[in-house]
Amino acid sequence: MSRLTAPDPSDVRTARDANGGAPPSTPRPGRAGDGWPSAPAPAPATGGRAAAAPTSAAVAPLIQARNVSVYYGRHEAIKKVSVDIPEHSVVAFIGPSGCGKSTFLRSINRLNDLIPGCRVTGEMLVGGTDVYDPRQDMVTLRREIGLVFQKPNPFPKSIYDNVAYGPRLQGIKRRADLDPLVEDCLRKAAIWDETKDRLHQSALGLSGGQQQRLCIARALATKPRILLMDEPCSALDPIATRKIEDLIGGLKSSYTIVMVTHNMQQAARVSDRTAFFYLGSLIEYDRTSEIFTNPSNQQTNDYVTGRFG
Ligand code: ADP
Repeated sequence: MSRLTAPDPSDVRTARDANGGAPPSTPRPGRAGDGWPSAPAPAPATGGRAAAAPTSAAVAPLIQARNVSVYYGRHEAIKKVSVDIPEHSVVAFIGPSGCGKSTFLRSINRLNDLIPGCRVTGEMLVGGTDVYDPRQDMVTLRREIGLVFQKPNPFPKSIYDNVAYGPRLQGIKRRADLDPLVEDCLRKAAIWDETKDRLHQSALGLSGGQQQRLCIARALATKPRILLMDEPCSALDPIATRKIEDLIGGLKSSYTIVMVTHNMQQAARVSDRTAFFYLGSLIEYDRTSEIFTNPSNQQTNDYVTGRFG
């Protein structure tokens, strides 16, 4: 575990704080061009499993949360959570309803900024850059961290236009550029074969499972490094769920995936690491096999064996 930084009381960011700050022309730390640099090597581990970073010592985690707390008004929904997430891995957040899984997920790409009265303290580093730095460019942030919601939410547009939406916003307009990009994303999301003959029909005509894979294709179209998924299968039937799970397994060679799931079998099937949250605290974070077969914490054990939750 990297050494934790003590929270600075002055380092309380509200949505307003986060959106204020330096003008857009101000240089900010980050990779030249598009995106962030590789993270610096982590500090030596100091022990403790709650925020243990079971990663190779040589590889810096892509996401490093340091003492992150999230407040809704006076309510501390996330309590000083520290966690390291390595690149090209799948991490599952589990825990009973209301324990803060979605809140913490949303804090990774600052989606909580949109909630009035919500504030975040601590550090959320992605590629070594604090995403809450006032100089953070929000367009870059949202491009690099894609989000897939619980309920499939395709735009009321054609299948093609759903996937082309983000690239068009980025200025890619020519069909010669968009066509291969759309095909590539639909292939990566394992829905090309089902859509290639109906690309210009409405996305709303697809089944729920197909819509969710289309939403994944749409998220991939901005070439993110990270995909956040908030219970991506909870609205789907078992066959559609299986397809998404298979897809997640294939995507991790190119992306880092963080998912909330209320389904422990799903966490066990698809994730490399699992974080168990309870009442806003990160109780245990470890390799998924450890969490499900040999958890170090009694609360984790009780939860994964179905004694509560
Ligand atoms: P989970 O994803 O584990 O079900 P949430 O992150 O949705 O948990 O919620 C964590 C806590 O934060 C809960 O007490 C919930 O009521 C509260 N909460 C979540 N969203 C909001 C919000 N927009 N405004 C106020 N409180 C919220």
